[in-house]
Amino acid sequence: MLKVGLVGLPNVGKSTLFNALARAEARVSSYPFTTIDSNVGVAVVPDPRLARLEALLDPLDTTPCAIEFIDIAGLVEGASRGEGLGNRFLGSIRTVDLIAHVVRLFDQPDVAHGYPGLDPVRDAEIVQTELLLADLEVLGRAIEKRSKVWATDPGAHAGERELLERCRTRLEEGRPLASLELDAAARVELEAVGMLTTKPVVWVANLSESEVGPQEPPAVEELGWALGEEGRPAEVVALSALLEAELAALEEDDRREMLEMLSLPASGLERLVERCFDRLGLIRFYTVANRKLRAWELPRGVAAPAAAGRIHSDMESGFIRARVASFDELVAAGGLAELAHQGRLRTEGKEYQIRDGDVVEFLFSR
Ligand code: GDP
Repeated sequence: MLKVGLVGLPNVGKSTLFNALARAEARVSSYPFTTIDSNVGVAVVPDPRLARLEALLDPLDTTPCAIEFIDIAGLVEGASRGEGLGNRFLGSIRTVDLIAHVVRLFDQPDVAHGYPGLDPVRDAEIVQTELLLADLEVLGRAIEKRSKVWATDPGAHAGERELLERCRTRLEEGRPLASLELDAAARVELEAVGMLTTKPVVWVANLSESEVGPQEPPAVEELGWALGEEGRPAEVVALSALLEAELAALEEDDRREMLEMLSLPASGLERLVERCFDRLGLIRFYTVANRKLRAWELPRGVAAPAAAGRIHSDMESGFIRARVASFDELVAAGGLAELAHQGRLRTEGKEYQIRDGDVVEFLFSR
């Protein structure tokens, strides 16, 4: 399951958002996961296609994709030097796939925040700086340790050395490693070194409840430009954590009604979860086995046997073939049996790359 860490300065609304996510999950009773502890929770990925398949196929049970959220509290200036909960804070970020960085745009003078006035860009930079400093320190130690090995055979280690030096230069420029063009192997290597700023970031602007509506306040767009890289604005998910917490406490019908009243097509949590999926370049496919419908997430371009391995490792090693229908074909035909009857259920082999929206039945030998 994907892991997302909520970071940000104290009192920006992380816990409020986390509680909203945890409560939203509690509404989905069939979900096999529960809140793990006070700061780790699981949120369901909103999926209109899954709802449509459920209506069409009438399964006994439906399981959506989910994301694990971790409320990473305790970041203060100096965390990279071990201030506050510094080391623990940085340790928990190392385990996440993506960082949701919450900044405060709501103005409520009685909520202390530690810095004068409302300045989301400054707040974001304080947190970013701690992450950059933590990376610089860890990288410096890694380079020092490896230098001895590099010296014994410079040719053999030129690639590794060049990568780590390039990263050091980028961090010294005050820029995150995510801004470098890195291939998958380099990413894995930097992950092993323990780098934090390689991780993708989704920005969350926490607004006042009164500012939430179909038209976002101009401050959101300004924030996007200020946080962007190379002439492109960063994408910002704007929501009010307090309002999300209220929405999450409502029954589904009341929740939809309230969203309609606010002229919002989706809740902030739905948009946030959707954005995390997009940012990681993930697709979704569906399986129906023993009348159980389930959604799975998968990186783009993965072949059928590896996709089967997401379900069970035996299914990867014993993969024979897959029967595949696209979501659109299935909905147009009105069901799997109808599609098979029309001879339009495809049979695909080991080379087939699973596409977004595929409904798949894997055939495998045990
Ligand atoms: P954390 O330290 O980042 O986890 O922040 P909290 O979630 O504990 O929130 C700090 C304070 O800000 C609490 O008093 C919240 O009620 C308040 N707060 C959080 N989100 C919002 C919001 O969207 N609007 C307003 N007005 N207050 C908020």
